[in-house]
Formats: sequence, structure tokens, C-alpha cells
Amino acid sequence: MYSTQICNSQIFRVATALTRPFSVLRNFSLFNFNSLKLESCVDEYVHVSTLAQLVEASSFAGPLNFLGGGSNLLLRPKIDGRLLHIGVEGISVTPFSEGKYLVRVGAGENWHKFVMHTLSLGIGGLENLALIPGNVGGAPYQNIGAYGRELSELVHSVEGFDLATKETRVLTKEECQFSYRDSVFRSEVIPHVIITHVTFLLGNLPLMTKYRDVRDTLSGYAREEIDHDLIAETVIKIRQSKLPDLDEFPNVGSFFKNPTLSKQQYDRLRGKIDIVGFSQGEAIRVPAARLIDAQKWKGKQVGNVLVWHRQPLVLVNCGGASATDFLDVAARVSDDVEQHYDIRLVLEPVIMGRDS
Ligand SMILES: Cc1cc2nc3c(=O)[nH]c(=O)nc-3n(C[C@H](O)[C@H](O)[C@H](O)COP(=O)(O)OP(=O)(O)OC[C@H]3O[C@@H](n4cnc5c(N)ncnc54)[C@H](O)[C@@H]3O)c2cc1C
Repeated sequence: MYSTQICNSQIFRVATALTRPFSVLRNFSLFNFNSLKLESCVDEYVHVSTLAQLVEASSFAGPLNFLGGGSNLLLRPKIDGRLLHIGVEGISVTPFSEGKYLVRVGAGENWHKFVMHTLSLGIGGLENLALIPGNVGGAPYQNIGAYGRELSELVHSVEGFDLATKETRVLTKEECQFSYRDSVFRSEVIPHVIITHVTFLLGNLPLMTKYRDVRDTLSGYAREEIDHDLIAETVIKIRQSKLPDLDEFPNVGSFFKNPTLSKQQYDRLRGKIDIVGFSQGEAIRVPAARLIDAQKWKGKQVGNVLVWHRQPLVLVNCGGASATDFLDVAARVSDDVEQHYDIRLVLEPVIMGRDS
């Protein structure tokens, strides 16, 4: 059972010349807005559903932070300033070329519902990324990836509001500088672009079935039976069997990124552990889960933080854990891995706020 901290929320209506008024909720608890169910209180919370509201609400003198579905956040107890919850909705489809479509979607749409919507329209491409929690705006932020696909392979462009220039802008895929679980939005180069819409180029793209779990599950099907819908169904089943149910076991998916190594580092590692990496150009990416598992962390519980027994990349809040508890366990896991394999694991979720 979780106790919800009420931080004496107060509501203020802000009338604007531009658009419908929006509400400013002061001392707002984010307990129900993050998938780890951490207690955290922000000075000001504002839900914005249009670009005009976003522009108005972002002209704020103090620190600004942004929230989507809250599924990749490690929230500390206190967040200063204003948090904008991006709720811009809407989906439009424009034919692009034979069998291909440009699909533009608002940052506030739920990611999985959007994926299933495109598939229901007969537009394939996003099927390997089914059932990833969160909203559309959070997806380019960390260039989500799963089961052999990365979002960057399917993005056409990203629209956002630039807080530095106070202008809307469209970033091409190249300008987004996507890399493994990273993008220009996450890096320091352009730290202040609030994503409002993402446009994908989707349609009759080649199917991706190379990832081992997907390939194994589909091995009983004839090649002509395999389509975008079947891959989505397969990915959903695999995810449901491996990952904890979010309602029961609060988590943020992978807590650690998979390390990317040089050929020499990889060869050295292979001298210490039986592990298989995947080529990424010159580099090789290795599964962090294998390294953590080899150090016997699978199924271990420290205080209120549990290392998930079916996937040791996932840390679960067993109730009442804090961001510090998660960081402590993550540091212990990383220390073990570093001591044995000389590799420091990097955290995947975004840390927001401060200790009170
Ligand atoms: C059970 C589970 C499984 C997961 N599996 C995967 C997986 O397979 N692959 C994967 O890559 N990730 C996975 N994740 C992580 C997470 O779901 C994704 O990173 C997701 O895209 C985060 O989106 P969100 O809307 O929840 O972002 P949030 O958690 O709300 O925010 C994350 C970051 O993005 C920023 N942000 C959010 N919206 C905007 C915006 N509109 N403009 C600018 N910045 C913004 C926030 O400020 C924050 O820094 C998983 C998480 C869970 C809980």
C-alpha cells in the first residue's frame, strides 16, 4: 500500500488573452504522475493542451520542467519551479508515396494507443515499439527502442517550441541527433525545446523479426503469415511475460543502458564472461542484464527496491522507496559490475528535482 503525500495543493486560474485559461496547481503531488510511484512535490503544475497554452505557461521566471507519461522519471522529493504537463493531442495522416504515409501526432497522445491506432489504419512500422508506456513527446526525447527497432528509424521530423528563441521550430531527423537512448532534446546542445508534435514516415516498411525473442516466437509461422499486426501481437505477448505489471510493480523499464564498447573492451570482457554483443558500426553493444545477472542481482531485494526476477534491468518499488533508495541500489549494482568487468553502467531514467 502506498501513502499519497498531499502537499496542500492550491489551484489558481490564469486568464490569457491567447487561449482558454489554464490552471496552475501549487504544491502539487506527482505521486500519481510517475510510474515508479515516488513521492514528489512540485511548486507549480500546469497541464497544457494547446500550443498557445504551452507558449503562455512557459513564460515563467523560475525553473521549468516537462512531463509526459512519467514512465522514465526518477523524481526526487522536491521539484522547484513550474512543471508543464504536455497534453497536446491529435493525429493526422497524409499520403506520402506508394504505400507510405506521414503521420503527425501530438506529444500528449499515449504512445501505445497511437501505435495501435496506426496499425488499425493498416499503416505499419511502429509494431516493434508496441506497449512501451508513456506519451509520444517522451519517445523522441530518449529515442525509444525495443525488439530490434529504434524510433529514429521511423521519424520524419519533430516540432517543438524553443524556449531560447520563443519560436516554434521543426527539426529534421538529422537535427534531432538521435543515438542510442539519446537525442538533441536530452543533450545539452539544445536543452530547451518542448516537443509538441512528432511526424513519422510509416507504411509498407520491411518487417523487423531479427530480435531473438521475436524470431523464436514467430518460428511456427510461414513467412507470408507474418505481418505488422502479428509482430505487434508477438511483442505485446513477450513484454507481458517478461516485464512486471506496472499497476502492481511500479518501475521505469530498464534502469540501466546497455554498455557500448570498443572492440578491445569487448574482447577483454569476453575473457571474463560468456556474453554476446551486437555490432553498432565500429562499436559493440552488450546486454547489461547479462552482467547484472552474473553478479547474482536477479530477484534480490534491498529495502523497498527489488531487482525484477525475470529481467534484472528493471528495478521495482515495493512500496515507499525513494529516489535515493533507487540510486543506492543502482550504485551497488554498478559497483559490482565495474569491479568484475571494468564497465560502469549508465542510468537510463531522467533524474528530476532535489532532496528536500
Ligand atoms: C514498464 C516499462 C517498460 C519500458 N520499456 C521501454 C522500452 O522498451 N524502450 C524504451 O526506450 N523505453 C522504455 N521505457 C521507458 C519509457 O517508457 C520511455 O522512455 C517513454 O518514451 C517515456 O515517455 P514519457 O512520456 O513517460 O516521458 P516522461 O517520463 O514523462 O519524461 C521523460 C523525459 O522526457 C522529457 N519529456 C517528456 N515529454 C516531453 C516533451 N513533450 N518535450 C520535451 N521533453 C519531454 C521529460 O522532461 C523527461 O526529461 C519503459 C518504461 C516502463 C515503465
